[in-house]
Amino acid sequence: MLVDRLADIEVDGARLRAGGGAQLARVVRAALDAGFAGVECLGGIPSTLGGALAMNAGAYGQEIVDVLSWAEVVEEDGTLRRLERWEVHGGYRWSVLGKGRVVTSAELSLRAEDPEVLTARVHQVREKRRGVLPPEPSAGRRLPQPAGDFAGRLLELAGCKGLSSGGRK
Ligand SMILES: Cc1cc2nc3c(=O)[nH]c(=O)nc-3n(C[C@H](O)[C@H](O)[C@H](O)COP(=O)(O)OP(=O)(O)OC[C@H]3O[C@@H](n4cnc5c(N)ncnc54)[C@H](O)[C@@H]3O)c2cc1C
Repeated sequence: MLVDRLADIEVDGARLRAGGGAQLARVVRAALDAGFAGVECLGGIPSTLGGALAMNAGAYGQEIVDVLSWAEVVEEDGTLRRLERWEVHGGYRWSVLGKGRVVTSAELSLRAEDPEVLTARVHQVREKRRGVLPPEPSAGRRLPQPAGDFAGRLLELAGCKGLSSGGRK
């Protein structure tokens, strides 16, 4: 395994390597602390790096697969394999990394950015998220978007908007 522990994060110039179990917020923080752009809009997404790559997590114009350089995965048959960027196809909230594979580690290719520009962008995104996301725990964003439609529209149509269980909506 290229990153020995699943939650480890290493920044090496503009290359950030992390285990599939690393929290995305920590990955984003490490990139920001080192002065690199590419994932700064993704800090508020509750996810591990592996989960984010499997879902091609994205926000405010950034998608994580866009900055991937490679991912090390365990295939369904148990073999360990490194997939290069050109082999990793993805679209809106999906990627081939989520198709029966487990991401054990990955490298992101970032770019240097003026710290002031980076900080301003992070603050802007944080404010935007604060305005649209509920402050309490929510399961709403966990639903995949069906092709050609929206989970929110279908939930509303089915009369499920506002349903809650155990204090969670
Ligand atoms: C309040 C809230 C806000 C959100 N906002 C956003 C947003 O702005 N943008 C966005 O894109 N998403 C958003 N999400 C969705 C969230 O990003 C995904 O649910 C998240 O990526 C799941 O990551 P996880 O590590 O928790 O994986 P899980 O929920 O455990 O799993 C999700 C999927 O990823 C797979 N997976 C998990 N780990 C790995 C791995 N190591 N290798 C391969 N596959 C793996 C699982 O098998 C499963 O199919 C939001 C969710 C919530 C609750």
